[in-house]
Amino acid sequence: MQQSPDLAVVRYGEAGIKSDKVRGQMLDRLAENVRAILDDRGIPGHVERHWSRLLIRPPEAGEFDADAAARAAADAFGVVSTRPAISTAPEADALAEAAVTLAADHPDGATFAVRANRAGSPETHPFTSQEVAAAVGAAIGDATGAGVDLDEPDRAYRLDVREDEAFVSAVEYDGPGGLPVGTQGKTVALFSGGIDSPVAAWELFKRGLEVVPVYLDLGDYGGPDHLARAVETAGTVARSAPHVDARLRVVPAGDLVDDLVDATGATRMLSLRRAMLRVAEAVAEDVGAHSVATGESIGQKSSQTGPNVRVTDAAATLPVHRPLLTRDKPEIVARAREIGTFVDATMNVGCERVAPDYPETNARLSAVEAAEPEDLFDRAEALADERYVVDGN
Ligand code: ATP
Ligand code: MG
Repeated sequence: MQQSPDLAVVRYGEAGIKSDKVRGQMLDRLAENVRAILDDRGIPGHVERHWSRLLIRPPEAGEFDADAAARAAADAFGVVSTRPAISTAPEADALAEAAVTLAADHPDGATFAVRANRAGSPETHPFTSQEVAAAVGAAIGDATGAGVDLDEPDRAYRLDVREDEAFVSAVEYDGPGGLPVGTQGKTVALFSGGIDSPVAAWELFKRGLEVVPVYLDLGDYGGPDHLARAVETAGTVARSAPHVDARLRVVPAGDLVDDLVDATGATRMLSLRRAMLRVAEAVAEDVGAHSVATGESIGQKSSQTGPNVRVTDAAATLPVHRPLLTRDKPEIVARAREIGTFVDATMNVGCERVAPDYPETNARLSAVEAAEPEDLFDRAEALADERYVVDGN
């Protein structure tokens, strides 16, 4: 009998409801992505695909920390939850013994529930899920004296009973859900490193896209602190997808911004956004991306009003993904805190320094086009070639 968890069980969500063929491809990718995260963090473990789960088992030689493996795997996009678990024979006695082992650190006064999930034909095991849960619950109760609360237990003991093996766990880590990165192609995300754009990049990763972040260095309007913040937050987001090249691409756009500030007034920010989209599209073409993305949200700023988004989009030929389009700022902030990209907004962000005093909120495309330099898009596209890569990790 194992005294401590000897494997990690990885549960996934949407990937599992696809057709067999797509599901197989998605799970292969998920297994690869989980391996990459373990490698990146120096956590040993052997990732296997197994029925409707991934399992991380001990490596052939050396130590294995099932809890560390479970925590790391819970960062992989596509994962719903992970559990460090004890593997046992799929028999009631063995399950109870494993559960009692795990209950050794059951907190004083804490209630518990046993949740059982049994797969296989009814003849496979001599018990139903309910019966085995009740038997194991009785054993935990005897060992700990703890009370049962099936609705809101302080701790849930989980039994995952399969045909020839079972897993018992007392801890569960939530994953982000979504789809495995690399299953939906590539997008180029305009990334300022503020509050919104790192969250937008994270949401795109979550839907299985590879995200290539692009930062426009606004010259005198930006500055090294602004760039450093973008590098850092890009590095944080990329930690969950270490197998893709999500290093920040930095585009020196100071001269272009200076000229825009000279040439334009109320519609300046729209021309700047339009130029940014063209930079992103040029990068997209180089890296084989099918779309570009921003952290914009309807009405958040004057450049993001309903009518103005239409004017911005007119500059684009690729789809522009805006995962935060309908999110309120507090929701975005909450997500930023959760994923570790929230930075106190003490920094006067670059775009705010570029903005005119009285920005247009209901722009007409023709007026914006008339005001902006004729060669704006050509210059934007040429700038994309001057990009350099900064590795934040
Ligand atoms: P964020 O929205 O990322 O918190 P912000 O508030 O400075 O940064 P906004 O003015 O809201 O930016 O800009 C809207 C979007 O335009 C950003 O979400 C981002 O996609 C893009 N963007 C803004 N500034 C830059 C920049 N310097 N480089 C690349 N993209 C940018
Ligand atoms: Mg914003």
